Amino acid sequence: MSEFRASAGASFPRQPFRGGLAVLSGPSGSGKTSICKALRRDPRVELSISATTRQPRVGEQHGVDYWFYSLAQFEQMVADGEFIEWARVYGNCYGTPRAPLAAASVRRDRLMLLDIDVQGAAQLRKQQIAALSIFVAPPSVEELRRRLALRRTDAPEVVEQRLRWAEQEMAQRASYDHVVLNEDLPATIHAVQSLLGLDPLPPT
Ligand code: 5GP
Repeated sequence: MSEFRASAGASFPRQPFRGGLAVLSGPSGSGKTSICKALRRDPRVELSISATTRQPRVGEQHGVDYWFYSLAQFEQMVADGEFIEWARVYGNCYGTPRAPLAAASVRRDRLMLLDIDVQGAAQLRKQQIAALSIFVAPPSVEELRRRLALRRTDAPEVVEQRLRWAEQEMAQRASYDHVVLNEDLPATIHAVQSLLGLDPLPPT
């Protein structure tokens, strides 16, 4: 495991592009979603679209951000073996569809990015699914609290619950290939791009 402090102006070792699968985990508010959005601008990168039972947030679309299902539909998909991994996160169910992942895992010219929690990443490891794994960590719990409050997408009690989860998730970070400490978002994006062998893209 290697750990990188992504502060403004930092540089990172550039790895070759290998394609296949990459797992990105980290507490809610660690910057994962922004990182995935930035990486997706590279034409070689595709995001795995998870299924979830949580309600869509404002602006989220079915089939783009997530596949949104009822609990009954999700349970049926679990029973049918449609997920390669699934987990309960913050009281909702999330699962990675098996078929697109299987196809993407053998491609060397494209990279599929999975934004999944520590339980999902552990399930993939257990099944010996080859994927480069990166844990994005916030600089501190106080900073995470500030970011979650700024986001205003969740009620205060949900924020508190997510912070408790964050501590548990942080305890798993040594199981990942790389840990990137997000002190500065552009630097963090640059660090993840370097680890995945992607070219830095100009900001939009
Ligand atoms: P959010 O509801 O904020 O979009 O995501 C909540 C958490 O669920 C995040 O930590 C995210 O990485 C995780 N998550 C999203 N999709 C999946 C999935 O398919 N499987 C697992 N195990 N976790 C997921």
